[in-house]
Amino acid sequence: MKLSQLANPRILKQPVYEPGKPIEEVARDHGLQPDQVCKLASNENPWGPSALAKRAAGEALEQLHLYPDGSGHLLISQLASHHSLQEDQFILGNGSNEIIELLGHVFLEPGDEVVCGEFAFVVYKLVALLMGAKPVEVEMPCLVHDLSKMSEAITEKTKLVFLPSPNNPTGSANSEAEIFEFVRSLPEHIIFCFDEAYAEYLDQPPDLRPLIDEGRKVICLRTFSKIHGLAALRIGYGYGSKEMIRLLQQARQPFNVNAVAQSAALAALSDKEWVLRCRSWNRAGLEQLSIGFKKLGIEYIPSHANFILTKPGDGRSLFLELQKQGVITRALGPTLADYLRISVGTEEENIRLLSALEQALSVCRA
Ligand SMILES: *Cc1c(COP(=O)(O)O)cnc(C)c1O
Repeated sequence: MKLSQLANPRILKQPVYEPGKPIEEVARDHGLQPDQVCKLASNENPWGPSALAKRAAGEALEQLHLYPDGSGHLLISQLASHHSLQEDQFILGNGSNEIIELLGHVFLEPGDEVVCGEFAFVVYKLVALLMGAKPVEVEMPCLVHDLSKMSEAITEKTKLVFLPSPNNPTGSANSEAEIFEFVRSLPEHIIFCFDEAYAEYLDQPPDLRPLIDEGRKVICLRTFSKIHGLAALRIGYGYGSKEMIRLLQQARQPFNVNAVAQSAALAALSDKEWVLRCRSWNRAGLEQLSIGFKKLGIEYIPSHANFILTKPGDGRSLFLELQKQGVITRALGPTLADYLRISVGTEEENIRLLSALEQALSVCRA
């Protein structure tokens, strides 16, 4: 008997998430040194984490023989004061991706439907499929989430609705007012997940706490992988009602978030200065790239995050051509074949990307 015959049949059909190419792999493939390769593929913070976070991570290495605090008490108490909520309104995850999976474990059964945008962050769909639920992908005209179309897609079978804003990979965002109206219009049997992975790049991110207070079934997700620059450590969190958090806590593993990540995140959260600085550097980077794309005659979607979705035509060829020059970007699936997602880098990296892109365009258009 083949091993695969023993597997849950869903696993055999489960699509595999394709991450941004690692620097080492591109270096190996193209005969480059890793330090010659620049990665603008995964929306990481090119300036790295706060120095306080690095120091805290280093100090945590002295205690590697001990299990982490499974309750994440110190970090959660700081998060509670950061967001002016109660401690039992928070859950930590091994990246906010883990919390997306926990939502699946807690709420989804085979046959349930999960509503998300056709060009939304792909992990929602993957988790729905993993749980045997049906992803219902709603059209996104102009590559923005259309909340009225999402409302229309909701049925008796819908359990979860995901809205990332700013969204990855489009960089588009929805306003607080329209989100409030949408959430208040949801039927009682719907759980609304608001994914705020890029919230810190906005001056005034939508604040859904009033919706949580009024008893709406809302879970908000944040991550330390993006503006906080701690993607390597895998840590994120969710906040919502006590009841919501209790259910999610029931489904998680005892030590899901490691001690180094907890210490570094705690320090990162305290360094508000660094977050502000990165936000403003990012804004300058978006401007620099936008000007460059215009000069190259490349269309792009104005971004509210730390990456830009460009439409240079044949994203896959450009992605491969750029790699030869040591620049990693992100090509997207067949439905966005003409697009290329480019993360904001340092000023130098952006210059390098733009010149590599000019070169790649001349090769690909020849
Ligand atoms: C990057 C990203 C995340 C965060 O993932 P982590 O697991 O916390 O690294 C979540 N949602 C969206 C939309 C993202 O782009």
